[in-house]
Amino acid sequence: MAVRKKKNNRKFIFVVGGVMSGVGKGIATASIGNILQAMGKNVSLMKVDPYLNVDAGTMNPKEHGEVFVMDNGLETDQDMGNYERFLDRDLIKEDYVTSGMVYSDVIEKERNLQYNGECVEAIPHVRDNIIERYKRSADLNDSDITIIEIGGTIGDFNNAMFMDAARVLKLQYPDDVKFVLVSYLPIPKKLGEMKTKPTQNAIRQLNSYGIHANFVIARSEASLDSVRKDKIAIQCNVQKGHVISAPDVESIYDVPLNFEKDKIGELMTKSLGISNGKPNMSKWKSFVSKTKSAKKEVDIAVVGKYFDTGDFTLADSYLSVIEAVKYSAYHNGVVPKLHWINSKKYDNNPNATKELAKFDGIIVPGGFGETGIEGKLAVIKFAREKKIPYLGLCYGMQLMTIEYARNVLKLQDANTAEINPQAKDLIIDIMEDQKRKLMEKNMGGSMRLGAYPAILKKGTIAREAYGKNEVSERHRHRYEVNNAYIEALEKAGLVFSGTSKNGELMEIAELPKSKHPFMLGTQFHPEFKARPLSPHPLFNAFIKAAKK
Ligand code: GLN
Repeated sequence: MAVRKKKNNRKFIFVVGGVMSGVGKGIATASIGNILQAMGKNVSLMKVDPYLNVDAGTMNPKEHGEVFVMDNGLETDQDMGNYERFLDRDLIKEDYVTSGMVYSDVIEKERNLQYNGECVEAIPHVRDNIIERYKRSADLNDSDITIIEIGGTIGDFNNAMFMDAARVLKLQYPDDVKFVLVSYLPIPKKLGEMKTKPTQNAIRQLNSYGIHANFVIARSEASLDSVRKDKIAIQCNVQKGHVISAPDVESIYDVPLNFEKDKIGELMTKSLGISNGKPNMSKWKSFVSKTKSAKKEVDIAVVGKYFDTGDFTLADSYLSVIEAVKYSAYHNGVVPKLHWINSKKYDNNPNATKELAKFDGIIVPGGFGETGIEGKLAVIKFAREKKIPYLGLCYGMQLMTIEYARNVLKLQDANTAEINPQAKDLIIDIMEDQKRKLMEKNMGGSMRLGAYPAILKKGTIAREAYGKNEVSERHRHRYEVNNAYIEALEKAGLVFSGTSKNGELMEIAELPKSKHPFMLGTQFHPEFKARPLSPHPLFNAFIKAAKK
């Protein structure tokens, strides 16, 4: 651990949302981080979520979007994924906090008599617990600037404790804490004019918490004109230069560059009393220019099931997969075209998979449960037989192994214990210590989560793609390849090119190049470690094969 600096050197920026959700507060937070980091500051990003879920692992991706997994195994919200991608580094578990974590911690302390008989209350005990977490994240990251996004919108009862904790932190360190309001300015069609009133009201609501905004990021369809900048400045009590125009842009990667047009980095460091020149955005710029210069398209089919979405859009359920494909496509100089296919439609009609022949590559991403599984197996068989580049992620690797057992080893009843624990050949099965946790109904604790090392076999596609012998990748699954079948599968031509250090857990399965241009599945989720500035080697190899 790095040497700790004096605490009073630390700076905090809180990002809160006004008017409505879904306007890009997470990307705004990540972009501010990206810019301040490019100014040579040690920046960390923190998300506090008002849910009572202790982590995001128990939330349905159809309602809440993808569950993102960190190196340390914590299951979080997709914002943490955006943070890691925009900072190009791993974050720590103290950077993600939910109300559930805070309350369960306070209650546990109360049960253990750690409050010395005091009457335990939301104020001050819950609030102080949160303040400690803000400071701890900054300390453990040894960061110059900690940027904290408060989930939800101002005025929600749910995030009131996080707001109040932020207010008190500001009271403790008046010069070291700043507030950014990400607001929304509607342009009602009938009026054709941008309205600032909802933002003014949001500011008033923020003031009622005792918090004053230092910056306003004005999200809208169009750029803010000078008249409206003035109006927001005067009505919201913010310096004019601190009102940042944030019109809709083509892609999220443009956001940092767009913020920089208003010199947000210089203004923020100046207001925190730590100015040091301009950010060096050259690496980010060169990535963004790659996203715009590619012409040739690759058509990739993503065959999954979290498509009939509730509150969230389809893209949210598979966000990291989409991002990973994009980075590797730009890296290979091609434009990714993703096509969403619900595997259910092939369940009773495997011949219909013929329609997939037109795609350059097929991905079967992670998933749980039995819907659409027969359909996915039919798709994998098709990809194998027709030699279409295939990438299987977690469930996609398990199913690739089952398909091989069924159709090459001719074990017709091959299956995973997740679907049919009575199947004759459980190619994918549960490990002993997971069984115990499941019996105790400790579902949350029954998965292999977070980073584990894998050793790669020489002469394989995986080894060649990574260019090294050992890698570390993130997991989120209950089941594993059953060791009893490995010999038979390998004899039949499947190669387990990555395993755990003791050789017992199968981490990567692939077909040799002589048999297939690219057919590879990973027990882990490589997509969680794909970043704009460092695209993932396995996705790079997959897209390269698809491009051919
Ligand atoms: N359902 C499978 C398991 O639990 C795969 C999980 C996943 O794809 N993340 O092992």
